[in-house]
Amino acid sequence: MSINTVWQQIKQYETESSREGCVRLLAVSKRQSIEAIQAVAEMGQRDFAENICQEALPKIAALKQYELTWHFIGHVQANKTGAISQHFAWVHSVDREKIAQRLSNQRPSDLPPLNVCIQVNIDNEATKSGIDVADLESLAACIAKLPRIKLRGLMAVPKPVDDFTAQRQPFQRLREAFLNLNQLGYGLDTLSMGMSHDFRAAIAEGATMIRVGTAIFGART
Ligand SMILES: *Cc1c(COP(=O)(O)O)cnc(C)c1O
Repeated sequence: MSINTVWQQIKQYETESSREGCVRLLAVSKRQSIEAIQAVAEMGQRDFAENICQEALPKIAALKQYELTWHFIGHVQANKTGAISQHFAWVHSVDREKIAQRLSNQRPSDLPPLNVCIQVNIDNEATKSGIDVADLESLAACIAKLPRIKLRGLMAVPKPVDDFTAQRQPFQRLREAFLNLNQLGYGLDTLSMGMSHDFRAAIAEGATMIRVGTAIFGART
C-alpha cells in the first residue's frame, strides 16, 4: 500500500460513518529510515509518530525543515521525559501520574502545553501498558491540574483480532470511557485508536486520530 491508498481509505470509511473530515492520520515511522519518512513528508503528510525516544531524535532533527508534528506513542521511561517534552507535540501513552508530572515540569516554557492522551489497557492484557478503565477518572483528575500539559483524550491498542465486529468492541468501550469523562466536564476531543489492520473499525467507532505504520511504509526493518 501507500499513503495515497490510506488517504483514500480514510475518506471512504469516514463517509461510511458520516464522519467526513473527522479523522487525522498519524504516520507511524518507527524503524523506518529518514529517507522513507522524507518521501512521505514530500507527499504532504504532516503528523508522524515514534515509539522510542533515542530512535526518534535524529529523525526529528534531520527533517526539521518540513515542520512536522511529532507524536510519541511508546512506553514513556522516566529518564526520557525531558527529551520527549522538548521534541514532541503530543504524547499518546501516558499511564501514570509520575510521568505526567515530569512531562509537565520539563515542558519548555517557550512551547505551548504538551498535548497528552491517557493510554487505556482496554482488553485488560497482563503484558500491555495502559491503565484500567476503572482507574481512569483519578488519573484524569491529576493530569487536568498540571499546568504545562493538556489532556486531550484517550488512546488504546486492543488485542489484534480479524473480525470487523470483534474489532469494534474495544473501540466502543474506549469511546464510552471518553464520553463518560466528558460528562464529568473534561472537554476531551481526541480518541487515538486504530492501526493498519483495524482502522476501519476504529473510524466506525469514532476515532479522531489513527496510527498507521505498515499500511503506509510497508514492513518495518
Ligand atoms: C507500531 C504502532 C502502531 C502502528 O502499527 P501498524 O500495524 O504498523 O499500523 C500504532 N500504534 C502503536 C502504539 C504502535 O506501537
